[in-house]
Amino acid sequence: MSNDTSNLFEIYEKMGISKPVYEFGNKILERLSDRFAQIDAIAEYNQCKVLHAMQKNHVSEACLSGTTGYGYNDLGRDTLERVYADVFHTEDALVRPQITCGTHALALALMSNLRPGDELLSPVGKPYDTLEEVIGIRPSKGSLAEYGVSYRQVDLLPDGSFDFENIRKAVNAKTHLVTIQRSKGYQTRPTLSVERIGELIRFIKEIKPDVICMVDNCYGEFVEIIEPTDVGADMAVGSLIKNPGGGLAPIGGYIVGTRECVENAAYRLTSPGLGKEVGASLGILNSLYQGFFLAPTVTAGALKGAVFAASVYEELGFACVPDASEPRYDIIQAITFHNPEGLIAFCEGIQAAAPVDSFVVPEPWDMPGYDAKVIMAAGAFVSGSSIELSADGPLKEPYAVYFQGGLTWPHAKFGIYKTLQKMQETFHFF
Ligand SMILES: *Cc1c(COP(=O)(O)O)cnc(C)c1O
Repeated sequence: MSNDTSNLFEIYEKMGISKPVYEFGNKILERLSDRFAQIDAIAEYNQCKVLHAMQKNHVSEACLSGTTGYGYNDLGRDTLERVYADVFHTEDALVRPQITCGTHALALALMSNLRPGDELLSPVGKPYDTLEEVIGIRPSKGSLAEYGVSYRQVDLLPDGSFDFENIRKAVNAKTHLVTIQRSKGYQTRPTLSVERIGELIRFIKEIKPDVICMVDNCYGEFVEIIEPTDVGADMAVGSLIKNPGGGLAPIGGYIVGTRECVENAAYRLTSPGLGKEVGASLGILNSLYQGFFLAPTVTAGALKGAVFAASVYEELGFACVPDASEPRYDIIQAITFHNPEGLIAFCEGIQAAAPVDSFVVPEPWDMPGYDAKVIMAAGAFVSGSSIELSADGPLKEPYAVYFQGGLTWPHAKFGIYKTLQKMQETFHFF
């Protein structure tokens, strides 16, 4: 064996990628160098931003070991929260393993900052599926609706723009909190850029200056060099098993924002009177720090995978959201196949590319809460982590797959090759 990388195909061939698939992908890659350079520049900026916050807050070796029991005087936990607050340019932050997932973080932010009689407004249409039960759009035990918090929604206009006229009408004396979802999630509307979120927040604050503006920041962290809290958001909320955990965080959620919003959330997470003072970090602070440190480059790898996937599948004639040339504001790539075979082949490819459970074959199943079978592919180090290479989609028109993640660009690239290989076996493109 030599150290010559001019024939990378050898290793791909060994891993089941055929020459036509490899060459097709490589040809497409040649035209992506400008896009990739832009993604790298953003990662470079964000890497410095995170590093600066860690240095400024004197992250020390002592911060990496955690506490047990009540967790009083947990230096590492408190310092990590100051690091998050500095990166997001907010007064305070709550970053905890006791916040179990993104939905929990969002529910916590909402329930702690709303009181009976208040109204919640979503000016960007239907929120993420799991929030329907938090809000009570679908009746559920413990929902905001059960506690007397009402909800109003203004949909985006058909062209994806804000319906300013109806938003103005929807803001009333009871409106206390406005929730803005940055990512499209598993919908087909466009993802909002931070700049557009800023425009929306300015409009709302002009109507009602004291309203709290919260952004569901899931999948958006580090995709741009600014975050929603740089353009007026009072709170940004997300999951540590997506972008900001860098693939290393084994659990957790964060809320960054004004001192008052974060304080409310802390008193709700633990207990009135206790707030941020309790909550042992156990042994995971090392992963939370190191994951946050890696998050800018991990996010960049996932973004390159998304751009590559869109470029490849658009070339083969499949509609992609966002399309290959559009700017990116989150890491999710939707590809529509209009037939079950394409969706299934794609997911089989992602599964076969995984470092864990690559030998299992994903099968469509009747998932609770869905009206069609769903197929999911994931072989992750952290269960359910969607910053790791993953894909899923419901088996119904338009047979769209939602693809995201990849802890490294080479892995995301290999994953796309593997999907192409499975597609080739079904459709014989080349
Ligand atoms: C993932 C996600 C959530 C929920 O996070 P979970 O960790 O799955 O509970 C909420 N909103 C958006 C936009 C998401 O992408």
